[in-house]
Amino acid sequence: MNVVTRFPPSPTGFMHIGNARTALFNWLYARANGGKFVVRIEDTDRKRHSEEAVEAIIRGLEWLGLNWDGEIVSQFARADRHREVAQQLLDEGKAYYCYCSPEELEVMREDAKTTGRPTAYDKRWRDKSPSEAPADIKPVVRIKAPLSGKTIIKDEVQGEVSVNNEQIDDFIILRSDGTPTYMLSVVVDDHDMGVTHIIRGDDHLNNAFRQQVIIDAMGWDIPVYAHTPLIHGPDGKKFSKRHGAQSVEEYKEMGYLADAMFNYLLRLGWAHGDDEIISRKQAVKWFSLSSLGKSPANFDFAKLENLNANYIKESDINSLIELTKPIFEQKGLTISDKKIAYITAGQDELKNRSKTLLQFVDEAAFYCKALPLEYEDKAAQTIKDNGDTLRAMISALESAEPLTKENAMPFFKQFAQDHADGKLGKVGMPLRAALTGKTSSVSIFEAAGILGTEDVISRINSALSQNT
Ligand code: GLU
Repeated sequence: MNVVTRFPPSPTGFMHIGNARTALFNWLYARANGGKFVVRIEDTDRKRHSEEAVEAIIRGLEWLGLNWDGEIVSQFARADRHREVAQQLLDEGKAYYCYCSPEELEVMREDAKTTGRPTAYDKRWRDKSPSEAPADIKPVVRIKAPLSGKTIIKDEVQGEVSVNNEQIDDFIILRSDGTPTYMLSVVVDDHDMGVTHIIRGDDHLNNAFRQQVIIDAMGWDIPVYAHTPLIHGPDGKKFSKRHGAQSVEEYKEMGYLADAMFNYLLRLGWAHGDDEIISRKQAVKWFSLSSLGKSPANFDFAKLENLNANYIKESDINSLIELTKPIFEQKGLTISDKKIAYITAGQDELKNRSKTLLQFVDEAAFYCKALPLEYEDKAAQTIKDNGDTLRAMISALESAEPLTKENAMPFFKQFAQDHADGKLGKVGMPLRAALTGKTSSVSIFEAAGILGTEDVISRINSALSQNT
């Protein structure tokens, strides 16, 4: 079978984490099976439609590296085709015009409530002759749902799920203004796009029964379904804004790496043994529907952060610099070749101290700052209190070998012996304040070695003159 999976988002303004996970599962299943992954924008709600919302989805897919096959399809653009299918169903007697007025429908709804009829609409136009049609009402088109028996969905996650057909309405497939309904459009598009597997949230399971009625009426193949439980928040309740960021792009802005997000979303509702760190390649190799979780997965922010830290640690420094350049720039810091050399030399500790790219930039910022630095109050006080030590340090540096990453530690140890009773902390504290303007940072002796004698002396001089 030529596997075709799909991602059909309704553009709501941003790419929701749940949608991203759905896209990811579909992408993986296609890639794991040498199939195609197609994207369709369900853009039929023209009142709320915005191109920006579509672009946000595309950016989300691109960021996560979920490349799609062929052109992105617009559902709205296919309305004629949807009408054509409705017409075919009418011609074959599998659908019918219904001329009920809104008032009649209201009465039926009330009646269904009191009599316990399982569906609101009483199917009154199902077998009526069109000659009885009132002239002043524009009809809708309704599908003839089966009157008895069961509709069964064989779902890869939920198992076999069935519904008594009395529960299924003769639902509308074409509105009175000729616009197709969601139920019709989805089925026609999935069929025409050759979709073989539908992986989506289990909030669509109920729709699947109705969609099957259309599929059966058209005599089309039923796709393989996998309805996945929705993502929940850390408290086990439906994942929502009050738990934290909902949009994929917010995670990007918070400094998460696409690969970490990919890995996290994959693990959120899918497992391969106890493996936590799974590369894209492994994911493509291992992904199967049978390992999708049957109960909702809880979004765990700490886990995502730890995973991100791991991916930062494993990242090539050039790619980290490329990714963080815009963040440095937002902070008014330009990273020249000299600064890149500093960051590269100090990369191990910078990576180890960073759970997000924002933290990485915060940790590395002192390497990139121009003089004079800004000083935290405590750092300023430390500089004031240790002027003599810092001045002695300048003299010692001037007569020593140029500082390097390797010789910095022995140099400062010796300096501590000579000027601070061997107490390295007494040397490190003012040095840190002078080099970074802060009271906490990467290991300051290594940083001094990376900055080199000239830069260290200028920073100390500047610190002394700024904090008198
Ligand atoms: N457009 C629907 C949504 O965004 C998806 C429909 C489907 O997967 O069948 O929820």
